[in-house]
Amino acid sequence: MTGRHNKREPLPAERHDTIRHEIMHELGGISLSAREISEKVGISEKAVADHLEHIHRSLAGSTGKLLVTPAACIACGFVFRKRERLKKPGRCPVCHSEHIQDPLYSIIPR
Ligand SMILES: [Zn+2]
Repeated sequence: MTGRHNKREPLPAERHDTIRHEIMHELGGISLSAREISEKVGISEKAVADHLEHIHRSLAGSTGKLLVTPAACIACGFVFRKRERLKKPGRCPVCHSEHIQDPLYSIIPR
């Protein structure tokens, strides 16, 4: 499918639901970074983060949950475990490397 993301009109609410379902579908069984999700679904990484936060909340109490593999420093192995927000960090607090493995997201059964 091509061209469907080119329109400048505001997205109708149902389009948001469709994107959310597409993201949830993409995350079934595999882990993807926000960048990979943005490429697959055709929205910005920032929009992906917003959708992920919504999916995270909407899955509470359901049969699945959003599994987040925390970002990690490629240089020294430091893991960003304490991040509450679903955003990727800029640099490592230990060695100050900017080579950070993005957080990965997956939807798994409870
Ligand atoms: Zn580091």
